Amino acid sequence: MTRFLSEKYRGLVPYDTAGEHEPGAFVKLNTNESPFPPSPRALARMAEASATLNFYPDPDGSELTAKVAELCGVRPDEVLLTCGSDEALSFIFMAFCDASRPAAFPDITYSFYEVLAGLNGVPFETVPLNADLSLRERVSWPSGRTLFLANPNSPTGLALSRAEAERVVQGNPDDIIVIDEAYVDFGTESCAPLIHTYDNLLVVQTFSKSRSLAGARLGFCLGSEPLIRDLKTIKNSIAPYNLSAATLAAGLGALEDEAYTRANCRAIMENRAFTEKALKDLGFKVVPSVTNFLLARHPKLSGQELARRLKEKRILVRSYGAPEALLPYARITIGTREQMEALLAALKNILEESHETC
Ligand code: PMP
Repeated sequence: MTRFLSEKYRGLVPYDTAGEHEPGAFVKLNTNESPFPPSPRALARMAEASATLNFYPDPDGSELTAKVAELCGVRPDEVLLTCGSDEALSFIFMAFCDASRPAAFPDITYSFYEVLAGLNGVPFETVPLNADLSLRERVSWPSGRTLFLANPNSPTGLALSRAEAERVVQGNPDDIIVIDEAYVDFGTESCAPLIHTYDNLLVVQTFSKSRSLAGARLGFCLGSEPLIRDLKTIKNSIAPYNLSAATLAAGLGALEDEAYTRANCRAIMENRAFTEKALKDLGFKVVPSVTNFLLARHPKLSGQELARRLKEKRILVRSYGAPEALLPYARITIGTREQMEALLAALKNILEESHETC
């Protein structure tokens, strides 16, 4: 840190991306990306758009906004496009959280919420998950807080049903409830239709997972028109041109090829069932998942040991140094069937090696 860094950022603990992008050829199962390439339609649209990169992009991304609205069954003025869903979360922290309206989120969830609280000087409260890592279904979460609920949750892979999530939104009518649906396309119902009933609900989604566009950085937020207008005020004060023309075009192409997305989601769900069963056969305990990843632990190896041994075999998975409850676990992104078979063969090998050294 230099002596020039603003006082307000001196205690900042940024999001840790260490180890996420390793050089060399790895089977990459550590950051929940899609193993499938972007739709050919997305690539074609992006190539077309690159010819006009001398111009600034449409600051409202009107064409894509209309398409997202159609997909989600809402109006275009109920949609804000963002640079990944991380940017939507960032705008929400800026718009709807401060010292008098702190944040709240489960104690085991997407760690970026805590980073954003730090960046924005927002106090936060964590709410414990149930002992089985499921989201607590409570009618009253702490009130006077902006509540962030990843649904499905990461890294657990578990979700509340739409009716359960609705009870949280309904039970806290004076607080903004943010439902972060990064993994919604792998087996849960979206809360998007509820934005017409509740003026305190924001739903955040991404093109990074089911639509194979993590590298393009595209997400969106849905909410009542007045809430979206507040978020637009923030967006137009920081990054009026927050999305490149290439990204807007890729998003449009992806939505023109929903059949491709649906087929990929089906493949991921099939590979998830295959991998879950095979992991159990190897002695793993696996948290049942409705996402594109599995949280698994083995009685013989900690999560970090497992990740280290797999890395030696050129396979990356995510492990945790905190909190305590996550130490036994590794989080494994669901890849292609071939990638899952490579993972299982490596795990079998590692377990045999550990058996021999016992
Ligand atoms: N929410 C959750 C729960 C996530 O796990 C992630 C990242 N994996 C994000 C949001 C952000 O994703 P992106 O910025 O790529 O849309």
